[in-house]
Amino acid sequence: MAIETGNIAVQTENIFPIIKKFLYSDHEIFLRELVSNAVDATQKLQKLSSIGEIQGELGDTHIRISIDKEAGTLTISDRGIGMSADEVKKYINQVAFSSATEFLDTYKGLEDGKSIIGHFGLGFYSAFMVADKVMLITKSAKGDAEAVRWMCDGSPEFTLEGWEKESRGTDVVLFINEENKEFLEESKINQLLDKYCKFLPVQIQFGESTKTEKDAEGNDITTTEPRIVNNPAPAWTKKPSELTDEDYKSFYNELYPYAEVPMFWIHLNVDYPFNLTGILYFPRIKKSYEIQKNKIHLYSNQVFVTDEVNAIVPEWLTLLHGVIDSPDIPLNVSRSYLQSDSNVKKINSYITKKVAEKLEDIFKSDRTDFEEKWDNMNVIIKYGMLSDEKFAERAEKFCLLQNTDGKYFTLEEYKEHIKIAQEDKDKHIIALYTNNKTDHHVYVDAAINKGYDVLEIDNVIDNHFISLLEQKMQGVQFKRVDADTIDKLIDKDEKTESVLSEADQESVKELFNGIIDQNAGTVVLTALSPDDQPVSITRPEFMRRMKEMSYLNGMDFAAGMPDQYNLVVNTNHPAISKLMTQETEVREKNVRQLHDLALLSQGMLKGQDLTAFVKRSVEMM
Ligand code: ADP
Repeated sequence: MAIETGNIAVQTENIFPIIKKFLYSDHEIFLRELVSNAVDATQKLQKLSSIGEIQGELGDTHIRISIDKEAGTLTISDRGIGMSADEVKKYINQVAFSSATEFLDTYKGLEDGKSIIGHFGLGFYSAFMVADKVMLITKSAKGDAEAVRWMCDGSPEFTLEGWEKESRGTDVVLFINEENKEFLEESKINQLLDKYCKFLPVQIQFGESTKTEKDAEGNDITTTEPRIVNNPAPAWTKKPSELTDEDYKSFYNELYPYAEVPMFWIHLNVDYPFNLTGILYFPRIKKSYEIQKNKIHLYSNQVFVTDEVNAIVPEWLTLLHGVIDSPDIPLNVSRSYLQSDSNVKKINSYITKKVAEKLEDIFKSDRTDFEEKWDNMNVIIKYGMLSDEKFAERAEKFCLLQNTDGKYFTLEEYKEHIKIAQEDKDKHIIALYTNNKTDHHVYVDAAINKGYDVLEIDNVIDNHFISLLEQKMQGVQFKRVDADTIDKLIDKDEKTESVLSEADQESVKELFNGIIDQNAGTVVLTALSPDDQPVSITRPEFMRRMKEMSYLNGMDFAAGMPDQYNLVVNTNHPAISKLMTQETEVREKNVRQLHDLALLSQGMLKGQDLTAFVKRSVEMM
């Protein structure tokens, strides 16, 4: 054919300068767009061949990527369907151009262009983000159409002419511009292929791999062969029945080469009312600070879109790892729009349901296994229960509580377990817990000696979680073991008389009030057993929770607030009654000593006060 020149788009404004400036940091997506086109062209060919519209063997269908540093070009070649001259005019000059224009219009209309998911949809013309000139040489697989060369130098003008090309398919040659020379580096292209093209469904060759083998005489023979950079059939595209546990684990390893083996996984597969496949893995998370969000990768027909899925899955599920592949998620819209998209909403509830089902399934079929996993997954489950009511309803059945003996109970089982021994005078069931067995040793010991059970609850989110438990477990109130003295912790209305007269009680109170830190502590007189501690520390549940909640909710003033505590003086202890008969000087020393001992046992005696205490103790000996 004769050389033809023309204007791609006389009617619209020149989009090339806009494409060039477009999202400087996201220039790299051009490679995904062009390789995806090559994949589409190859799949179209395979389709036509399978229905008999194209005769003969297809032979090689690999996509090849190559760099020519001297010429300054990057080439993407496919052995796909190719295009005739008319098709180039139609698809490249018109379809591709108008879809790029449309994309840029949407992009401009958005307040924050960056929020478009994965910047999907710019298509063929994204080549001009990194190239001054683009050349496309193509030969259609249909009939024996002449091969053609299309060329465009980043102005709306193009040339189209007949060209020599032996094999069917398309070569897209990018003359990389000055500012984007990095795309002529093999390492850069490898990195991009790994990010965007790792699981594309057609084999992609880039660079070479060398292999050294010994021949019969024991000499090294080195052979090089083209390197395939992708896995065209990743696990999520297969049926669960075709996969073993090892397959799932090795796919996980492919996704996160250095991560610890996951606990279990959920294979997602729906085609109605939306299309979605994927595998979600439950990582081992012991402590809240190990949480890593954004480990889920979003794909659309095996093309990588983004690893920022927080607009697509509920926030708590971003703690899971794995892959979601759905062509039904609209990708060239803003993130805020996404959350209201009806497919995205359905996808959300589908995934949540699947996760709940899987957990329920493990719980029902193997309770021991579930209990063993609990330590490593309770953070995610609790986070889910706190943020999603529907999930909380389902999770109520398998959410576990663990006591200080290491035994696990469901919420219902636990209520049953403590309901007789731990009911107070107002018919409330009081569940006791500690967030630190070592620090609370004295209190835990006292509670267990009294026949109570103590739960171990020690995660950061547990503060909020306890409030949720109180809603879920009707009639149950939670109290930390140090919330009160053991007789009051679960108030059964059993009164112990005080051996001190009212007047003596008044003087005891005055003595302790004289030395306590008035900002933090309150002196409380209580008639306990003479065997209980003479002076001890308690932290009223309500005040403590208020402070912790405000702190967790980011109210900084709460951090500076001193820990409120009660200094509980046991008026029935002989050491207290004895104070009444002592000389002033001895008495004052003893009051200090008793006060300091109580603080010391809670690790609250520090600095100067601790030094003074040690000195005084030695003197007293
Ligand atoms: P999209 O891929 O979303 O359709 P593009 O702008 O990337 O948009 O491409 C427009 C059209 O150009 C494609 O639909 C296809 O018909 C044609 N095309 C692009 N690249 C190739 C290729 N490598 N082989 C054959 N046709 C191609």
